[in-house]
Amino acid sequence: MTDLQAVLDSIHKELAPRIGEGKVADYIPELAKVDPNQFGLSVVTVDGKVYNVGNADVPFSIQSISKVFMLTLALGKVGEGLWKRVGREPSGSAFNSIVQLEHEQGIPRNPFINAGAIAVTDVVMAGHAPREAIGELLRFVRYLADDESISIDDRVAKSETQTGYRNAALANFMRSYRNLDHPVDYVLGVYFHQCALSMTCEQLAKAGLFLAARGSNPMTGHSVVSPKRARRINALMLTCGHYDGSGDFAYHVGLPGKSGVGGGIFAVAPGIASIAAWSPGLNKVGNSQLGAVALEMLAARTGWSVFGD
Ligand code: GLU
Repeated sequence: MTDLQAVLDSIHKELAPRIGEGKVADYIPELAKVDPNQFGLSVVTVDGKVYNVGNADVPFSIQSISKVFMLTLALGKVGEGLWKRVGREPSGSAFNSIVQLEHEQGIPRNPFINAGAIAVTDVVMAGHAPREAIGELLRFVRYLADDESISIDDRVAKSETQTGYRNAALANFMRSYRNLDHPVDYVLGVYFHQCALSMTCEQLAKAGLFLAARGSNPMTGHSVVSPKRARRINALMLTCGHYDGSGDFAYHVGLPGKSGVGGGIFAVAPGIASIAAWSPGLNKVGNSQLGAVALEMLAARTGWSVFGD
């Protein structure tokens, strides 16, 4: 049996001299203020054991990782009908690309690029006021992690609301193709708040544990989705979870995962564990530089890659 705490400790020790690498996202002013010299890693196994190292208890802005939770809610609401609104193919483009959206006539390539996530948020909003949709997501994440202390950082949401011109362009574009049912301002308001969810590595790993455990959270006993749906969400994370760095992440790490520009990466070793890594400095495609390195080390040392050990 691998001594997981020893593996985490050795990764932390080896990466310590590199903490601070990469470039903190600065297109959202509030994120530019985050101290880059932080690194956390948390692993929660399907038998309920929690392993942490570094700043695994420091809340950070989960940003696009929230798209996994919104997708889960949207699939619960409309099931496979969701795929009329958004595709399931890797984009090979930047997370906020407009070109592809025009080419594909307002149907985003997948639910994890920004345009796709905005369409997914629009689906979850059906029958809700924006505030209620935000509340639904927050309650869902708290329920998943069994932690009522999880909150939304309003300063981050406000900061992105003031500067989210590109997301506004994507949303307006989709609305012009009738792929948004709600007013652009409302949808973006919900989207910016979901991205501003603030969670620690440990909370994130716990919240996503159902994806490692055939759709149920073994720590709480809560059944969240069917095994088939968990498998499919994992497939989407593997193929689309890191924007135009998805192939590279599969090559180096070999686990389904989703990154966010706050420097977090959530990953799943199916049947074994859920993992959250965080370090604010990003690489060229907007994924956490050290987070990806840490996950590569973890996968190599545990043999957890879905492609074999
Ligand atoms: N809120 C960010 C945006 O829409 C999320 C991007 C990300 O985390 O990759 O630009």
